[in-house]
Amino acid sequence: MKFPFTYEIIYSRRKTAAIQISRDGKVTVRAPYGCPRSFIDSFLHSREDWILRHLEEIRLHPPKERPALSGEKRRLYVETARSVFTQKAAYYARIMGVTYGRISIREQKTRWGSCSSAGNLNFNWRLIFAPESVLDYVVVHELAHRKEMNHSRAFYDIVESVLPDYRTSRRWLRDHGSSLWDRC
Ligand SMILES: [Zn+2]
Repeated sequence: MKFPFTYEIIYSRRKTAAIQISRDGKVTVRAPYGCPRSFIDSFLHSREDWILRHLEEIRLHPPKERPALSGEKRRLYVETARSVFTQKAAYYARIMGVTYGRISIREQKTRWGSCSSAGNLNFNWRLIFAPESVLDYVVVHELAHRKEMNHSRAFYDIVESVLPDYRTSRRWLRDHGSSLWDRC
């Protein structure tokens, strides 16, 4: 099927298909391994209006050259992240009845958060640009590792008991997480 825009298909171990449009107008279809081409075509077809609207929007308002992230600005973001994650960790740890050690704020391309076996928590400062429910999910996820050091059913039961709608946030990270690097 022919579309009035170019696009790239990236297959990965995911369960659903999604369309991403980067700030500079690159269309990417993310699809599960083995997803038939006919499905991708009809998926693109069903979203064609939305894609064209988006591309038109980008054409009319092209993204501004992004100024380099200054040291000062970066320090501010990291400090903001430190204060947000410190508060959220304290809040959820009390609800979940868990303890934790140090909180570190980092920037790791591939990780949003982590929890060491000693209970030290790491969070990615770029999450401050994500919806707040996503921050809550990452915090609860890492704190749940204080009870289950794995991603078992029991682990996600703990997460769900605190955040019944956690799947929405998890999906947001999967579909839009990379856009947090476009922000600055
Ligand atoms: Zn985990």
